[in-house]
Amino acid sequence: MGKESWTILKLIHWTSERFQKEGLPTPRLDAEVLLSSTLRVDRVRLYTHFDQPLLPEELVRFKTMIQRRLKREPVAYIIGRREFWSLSFKVTRDVLIPRPETEILVSEALALRPSIPVGDGDLQVLEIGTGSGAISIALAKEMGSGSITATDVSEKALAVAEENAASNGVREHLRFLRGDLFSPLKNGEQFHLILTNPPYISREEWSDLMPEVREFEPTLALDGGWDGLDFYRRALPQISEFLFPGGWFLGEIGTGQDQKILEIAGQNPALGEFTFVPDLAGIKRVFKARKWTG
Ligand code: SAH
Repeated sequence: MGKESWTILKLIHWTSERFQKEGLPTPRLDAEVLLSSTLRVDRVRLYTHFDQPLLPEELVRFKTMIQRRLKREPVAYIIGRREFWSLSFKVTRDVLIPRPETEILVSEALALRPSIPVGDGDLQVLEIGTGSGAISIALAKEMGSGSITATDVSEKALAVAEENAASNGVREHLRFLRGDLFSPLKNGEQFHLILTNPPYISREEWSDLMPEVREFEPTLALDGGWDGLDFYRRALPQISEFLFPGGWFLGEIGTGQDQKILEIAGQNPALGEFTFVPDLAGIKRVFKARKWTG
């Protein structure tokens, strides 16, 4: 960049062009999001202040962000935030960046609520592998009552999730536990709803992942073993022990994993009512199963 005055508009143009040359998929959007984060204003304000020049220290901060993006670091990690369910979440490299399609898990969970026999008590929800806390926090916001237990194997992820619960005003509705699968739960503990968006990337898909994902997001959040289904092979045989009769399991799955999931779930005689919910691209994205009553 030269010495002449760098206005917002000039910087958006220069940066989008640079990002485009680098082959980044959304160059203009990235430029705008990074610039608005540098200036700590929302994107709309950029458009009403095109002629505003940047202060030298703002320019330095923005340049550092550009350099990080050119190394393919995701925008969400650079600015440290991501929106999910219209809520704002802190994200660090210890957590998966929440994806829009994961909102299906939240809306399905909300839609199932009326069909779950809760009796006199509150709805009890378990989320395994909460990462940033996105799913559990969105649910807590919507549910008002009920209690949600959110687990993760990663201590660092849980710290981020706790911060997000607090900043979104739902800390008291959530219980965070660290550990593998069901190990942090008490003996005999049961839930009306168990949700998970587990690691489900297969070995074959690994090399096709964008560098943003492969090189920056936690392997622990992505790697699902050779066919991507290791987590489900471990979780589904046990899941019914932790569900109340009539309770539901909801899990996000990868492209084309539906047949194999049916095979794995079908081996647990306590589960039935298997269904899939497609995402906007028509891909079966969420797997639902119910524990038989009686
Ligand atoms: N729920 C978040 C994060 C999903 S990434 C979202 O949808 O955006 C998957 C998460 O599961 C990671 O945070 C990872 O640390 C955690 N995880 C992986 N294996 C696990 C296991 N066996 N038990 C508990 N958590 C696990």
